[in-house]
Amino acid sequence: MHIVVVGGGVVGVTTARELVRRGHQVTVLERHSLAGNETSKGNAAQRSYGVVYPWADPSMVFKALPWLLKTDGPLKMRMPPSLAATRFLLATLRYAWSPGLFGLNKRAMLKLGAYSRERFLALEQEHDLAFDGAHDGLMHLASTPEALDELRKTHELLNEVGVPSHLLSPQEVREVEPGMTGNGPLYGAIRYDTDGTGDCHLFSRALAQVCEELGVNFRYEVEVEALLADHQRVNAVQLRTASGKPERLEADAVVVSAGCWSPELVKPLGLTLPIYPIKGYSITVPLSDPAKAPTATVHDDNFKVVSTRLGNRLRATGFVELADFNRDIPEARIATIRKSVESRYPGCADLDAAETWTGFRPMTPDGPAIIGKGPRDNLYLNTGHGTFGWTLSAGSAAVIAQVIDGEEPAVSLDAFRPGRFAGGL
Ligand SMILES: Cc1cc2nc3c(=O)[nH]c(=O)nc-3n(C[C@H](O)[C@H](O)[C@H](O)COP(=O)(O)OP(=O)(O)OC[C@H]3O[C@@H](n4cnc5c(N)ncnc54)[C@H](O)[C@@H]3O)c2cc1C
Repeated sequence: MHIVVVGGGVVGVTTARELVRRGHQVTVLERHSLAGNETSKGNAAQRSYGVVYPWADPSMVFKALPWLLKTDGPLKMRMPPSLAATRFLLATLRYAWSPGLFGLNKRAMLKLGAYSRERFLALEQEHDLAFDGAHDGLMHLASTPEALDELRKTHELLNEVGVPSHLLSPQEVREVEPGMTGNGPLYGAIRYDTDGTGDCHLFSRALAQVCEELGVNFRYEVEVEALLADHQRVNAVQLRTASGKPERLEADAVVVSAGCWSPELVKPLGLTLPIYPIKGYSITVPLSDPAKAPTATVHDDNFKVVSTRLGNRLRATGFVELADFNRDIPEARIATIRKSVESRYPGCADLDAAETWTGFRPMTPDGPAIIGKGPRDNLYLNTGHGTFGWTLSAGSAAVIAQVIDGEEPAVSLDAFRPGRFAGGL
């Protein structure tokens, strides 16, 4: 079967690998000249299988407002908000206040997270990929006593679902992360023992190379303009090459993994996907003193900034911003990220020399990704992964390949079904 995957981000590339290994002929269509060059490029680099949670979190609704008003607060919104942002927030509130939904979705995401970890370990055993990858644990700091109480509750839930974690005292935190010599407030932490890290951009590029060796045809610098379908099937993809030439590419099946740009491709086929681009920022900098840096990945709840060790580099990431597709990088955002790093890891790097980046999380208003069959017999979706697309990529790629081949998916896809937004919000 010839399967066309639209999108060469980490989700499209991992999907292509699963499909080619199952004997399909695979073509990946990507508008950039490289794989993993959009949202998969400068993310926080966490493979946070034990942390995954839905965006529509009822406990966040009242916390979020003060964050909006704080200069260094992690939540930002362009004022006045656009119609798209307003609709997305209203839909988020509706999901957050749907009784029991958060818990169900969180459990479903944790199960997919655990499966994704399994698939990553197998993948890394099969292919020798250079992406500064590790599974050395992940830590969430508590900078207030209330934050520590929240972490205790998280620890109980993780015990219940079998995800290994430990609560740490401030002294134990510093034993695990000796580079954390700064004076940022610290009451303790939770450590997700089996979580990991890795540069998603390097991984996507290295895996794309492996896929090409396995026979996948990557076509870069092509824009997919439309899925050409009748009432039952998608027959072909309408694309435009870099030279502006239109082309029709026949397909036996199509997987849409186009991140934030997925909705426009499936809307003409009658499927509305309420994916909204939630903006974030990162800095990446070579370490000048590696001993003063984190050894793995640490979430500083004081600024809601994540600092991750990637080989000899530090990546620090923050902010959840609703500003539609605006790619500006205001200095104030970068200054907050720097402030967080300096408060924990003083002297680890010359932060003024850091490379800056912004990207858009392809967020659904409830939170789970969109994985499964679309509105035509041979149309599939693996998209809308929001905050956790890197973490869940290996697992979601495996389950969508199982669905395409008519097998029972290894993880229940109820929470992820594409049709759950039907009826509008
Ligand atoms: C600040 C920030 C921090 C994050 N931190 C983490 C983290 O620590 N851990 C984690 O798990 N996740 C994290 N994420 C989320 C993660 O980066 C995303 O969920 C993931 O990269 C999504 O991958 P994707 O392949 O679906 O989308 P993308 O990487 O955006 O790939 C989609 C691709 O489709 C292509 N495309 C779209 N439309 C077309 C078209 N019409 N024709 C041709 N090509 C097209 C695009 O060019 C793009 O390359 C973070 C995100 C941000 C913004």
